Amino acid sequence: MSKGNIGVTSANIFPVIKKFLYSDHEIFLRELISNAVDASQKLKTLASVGEYKGELGDLKVRVLIDKKKGTLTVSDHGIGMTADEIDRYINQIAFSGAEEFLEKYKNDAQAIIGHFGLGFYSSFMVAKKVEIFTQSFKDDSTAQHWSCKGDPEFTLEDTIKSERGTDIVLHIDDDNKDFLEESKITELLTKYCKFLPVEIVFGKKKEWKDGKEVETDQDNVINNTNPAWTRKPADLNDEDYENFYRELYPMSDDPLFHIHLNVDYPFNLTGILYFPKIKNNIDIQRNKIQLYCNQVFVTDSVANIVPEYLTLLHGVIDSPDIPLNVSRSYLQSDQNVKKISSHITKKVADRLAEIFKADRPQFEEKWDNLKIFIQYGMLSDEKFYERAEKFALLKNVDGKYFTFDEYKEQVKENQTDKNGDLIYLYTNNRQEQYTYINAAKEKGYDVLLMDGQLDVHAVSQLEQKFEKTRFVRVDSDVIDKIIQKENDLQVSLTDEQRAALQDVFAAQLPAIEKTNFVVSFEQLSADSNPVFITHNEFMRRMKEMSAMQGGMYSFYGEMPDSYNLVVNTAHPLVEKLLADEETQCAEKAKPFVSQVAELQSQLDEIDERNKSKKYDEISPEDKTAKDELRAKIDGVNSSKKAIYSEYAATNPIVGQLIDLALLANGMLKGEELAKFVKRSVELIN
Ligand code: ADP
Repeated sequence: MSKGNIGVTSANIFPVIKKFLYSDHEIFLRELISNAVDASQKLKTLASVGEYKGELGDLKVRVLIDKKKGTLTVSDHGIGMTADEIDRYINQIAFSGAEEFLEKYKNDAQAIIGHFGLGFYSSFMVAKKVEIFTQSFKDDSTAQHWSCKGDPEFTLEDTIKSERGTDIVLHIDDDNKDFLEESKITELLTKYCKFLPVEIVFGKKKEWKDGKEVETDQDNVINNTNPAWTRKPADLNDEDYENFYRELYPMSDDPLFHIHLNVDYPFNLTGILYFPKIKNNIDIQRNKIQLYCNQVFVTDSVANIVPEYLTLLHGVIDSPDIPLNVSRSYLQSDQNVKKISSHITKKVADRLAEIFKADRPQFEEKWDNLKIFIQYGMLSDEKFYERAEKFALLKNVDGKYFTFDEYKEQVKENQTDKNGDLIYLYTNNRQEQYTYINAAKEKGYDVLLMDGQLDVHAVSQLEQKFEKTRFVRVDSDVIDKIIQKENDLQVSLTDEQRAALQDVFAAQLPAIEKTNFVVSFEQLSADSNPVFITHNEFMRRMKEMSAMQGGMYSFYGEMPDSYNLVVNTAHPLVEKLLADEETQCAEKAKPFVSQVAELQSQLDEIDERNKSKKYDEISPEDKTAKDELRAKIDGVNSSKKAIYSEYAATNPIVGQLIDLALLANGMLKGEELAKFVKRSVELIN
């Protein structure tokens, strides 16, 4: 028997392993099983090249727990180790600058283990003593027993071991007893070892018999040694891909498409990516891509390896060229990782282009589900935009799909306004904006459906990309103003009439919190609605941006929402209302009107004589007189206003017209809605 000190330049690595590696204790199992799998595969390789001539036998790797002894054993029938190999591979771990590095990465076990090649030693995170029993495949070698209690001292002695291979026995320490639980180990094996290339056995298969779960005599193999991504695409059909998807995500709906990645140069990468069916929340869908290194699970957070928008995809990436055991920040700057990321982007775009070309109906059918990936990609990656603009689609309210070029052709003729701007009309809610959509359609215009989670951003992007093109939501103005073809539409009201109607409608505007209404007049057709509400495109978009991202837009978020109450002066009801208001109010208002006229002419007179003077040169008397006149005009105007308010309050038509407009816009709610219903009933009676 020999004794020695493990070759660590830093005084003692063990307290460090135990004390500083707070998290990720569980990866010890992955490390030990990977070593066992490697040893088994090496033996297969040696056999295939004729360097090992004996029987391969059963190469399964077994994991055993013995609660009574408090041990966990990983056992393989691989190449084993000679005394000399133990000395070289286990006893000598060369460190330089160890302490410094450990201090820096004390919370990142992955980084430490990777940096020092500490795979085997990670077992000391959970064990107070570790033993190796190993018999090399080499002729004339003696079995070895290595033992170490978590200090630099170890013992190494000859032993007797009948079978070739290695048993690593961990005496689990008191703080880590959960690693002796069957359920815990099952969980870890399914997480890290599900697709290892050598069979991993944990206990016996169980079955239900007479209402009880009993053990069978069959090995419980926990992994699929030949997962789909390791096979050739030519050997797989659609069903194989779908089955593999279900193996990865048992609870998910079928995916939309898959992409089989297979690269050998300039880096090595295999994998299958899937476009899943996205439910409404993007965030919960993330972290679904699993990253493997030679079939060993490493992580499901691939944030720095694939572009952000592709983290919505599902599936598996396997690459020995991604530096796995390094810190996350390092990944970002790694050249291989960068190449991998842009390769995946290109592959995804190519595949989409291919499906679009080969099977447009299928592509259209899946578009609604694909849209979010493609938009996300187009918004976050200029290169992806350039690839995707050929197959990205726009959908109209009738469910028809167009490419960007096709759509331009479709609307160019009819939807170009007098300034030569092409107007793309859209709605984000077919139901709520029904009236507006209809009004547009009656003009022969087309309306796009933009009701997706990213459409607000997509609209801004496309507006910047397309030349002389604006996107305008159908309810942002009256249709003839959205796509203005002739010069200003004339409204045939005298100033007096306009002012009177303004007062009448303003008096009955609803009081909605943080919402302003501005009354305006348009001479539309007689069969358009008498009154309706529009929502300024610019303000609305700024508010949407503020709701989504705050920051520079938060200024708009604080502002009240501003709507227009558009009165159609060509509508018979409005004409009638105007006539009625004039008979009812004109007499009463007359004295006020002439008073205002009189006061105004006095004001004009003062202005006339001071016309050529600067403000400072105007006499104090004139200044005071002007202030007084203005105050008087205001006073008379409010008395006049009161007449119209009173009129508006007693004429149920005014409130009714406003409410109908609110109703058409989904803005009539609660008490106001109840009042409206009541008033409607009364009006019918
Ligand atoms: P790594 O696996 O990264 O090389 P480890 O510390 O996990 O680092 O293992 C060191 C070496 O010990 C391995 O490279 C291998 O040569 C040897 N080894 C570990 N476990 C086994 C095993 N089960 N069978 C044979 N050799 C092993």
